[in-house]
Amino acid sequence: NDRDYWVCVYDNKLETEVMREQEIKHELTKISQLHIDGSLYIQYQPIFDLKANKVTGFEALSRINSEKLGFISPLEFIPIAEETKLIIPIGEKIISKSLDFLFRLNILGFDDIDISINLSVIQLFKKDFPEKLFKIIKEKNVNPQNIILEITESIYSSDYDYLNIILNDLKRIGLKISIDDFGTGYSSLSRERDLNIDCLKLDKSFIDKLMYLSPEEAITGDIISMAHKLGHSVVAEGVEHEKQMNYLKSSDCDRIQGYFISRPLDEEKAIEFLK
Ligand code: C2E
Ligand code: MG
Ligand code: MG
Ligand code: MG
Repeated sequence: NDRDYWVCVYDNKLETEVMREQEIKHELTKISQLHIDGSLYIQYQPIFDLKANKVTGFEALSRINSEKLGFISPLEFIPIAEETKLIIPIGEKIISKSLDFLFRLNILGFDDIDISINLSVIQLFKKDFPEKLFKIIKEKNVNPQNIILEITESIYSSDYDYLNIILNDLKRIGLKISIDDFGTGYSSLSRERDLNIDCLKLDKSFIDKLMYLSPEEAITGDIISMAHKLGHSVVAEGVEHEKQMNYLKSSDCDRIQGYFISRPLDEEKAIEFLK
């Protein structure tokens, strides 16, 4: 017959996802415009030094708890913040808040605790980043030597010479640089050798293997000794069991982080933990 039929494929799941993404974008915009932090907050996960036998630092991990959407994981909102470039103003807030925490620790008499802050490539490659960061550090009156910037291996795919220049600028200020999730992506130890970095964070996937592979089968120990030869310290992330800690200790790993030591904690709880 001569009637027209319209076929409409309606994907409910897709629509829900798109709507959620829109709402997260809206939430991120709000956070970036507020003078206070709104629904953005930071938890601090202790990092335990296997040689000193004590907590020597915390990693700052961002979270959002919004009225409308509830808890949003950084795994979900960081990529959206990057895509919208809102990571620039929000990243500055994260740095500010983390350094407030560091200052508070100093006031409480903990003057040699490190704070590790995760950075997006977009933040790192923004032309005025070192300058801005230095300004915040001076404002907050903290020691740059206690600040570690965590960057992922994905930086290797970008302009290598420029990366080297920025890292050297940051090192001149006194900051330390750590390669996060080491072993998951573009990593190669020969590249690490040419870059001015301080620390490798072994990805959880390597640490998980320590539960079912023998130390000889797991290459974790080899990576640790090679990293040491290149002059880097090594942090193992995602340590959940004593067995993993014992193996890492015997492999000469410097520090561990994971649920076995503690989950990420709110500021007050983190201070209690340290005490
Ligand atoms: P990451 O930097 O590798 O951080 C470690 C992640 O592993 C955190 O997840 C932490 O909660 C989790 N974790 C720690 N110990 C254990 C463990 O024993 N078992 C398990 N299963 N997980 C453990 P989280 O907080 O969900 O963060 C996920 C990722 O989001 C981070 O991975 C980091 O890449 C990114 N991220 C978090 N905060 C920020 C931020 O402020 N800026 C940027 N650019 N990225 C961030
Ligand atoms: Mg990290
Ligand atoms: Mg990590
Ligand atoms: Mg990781």
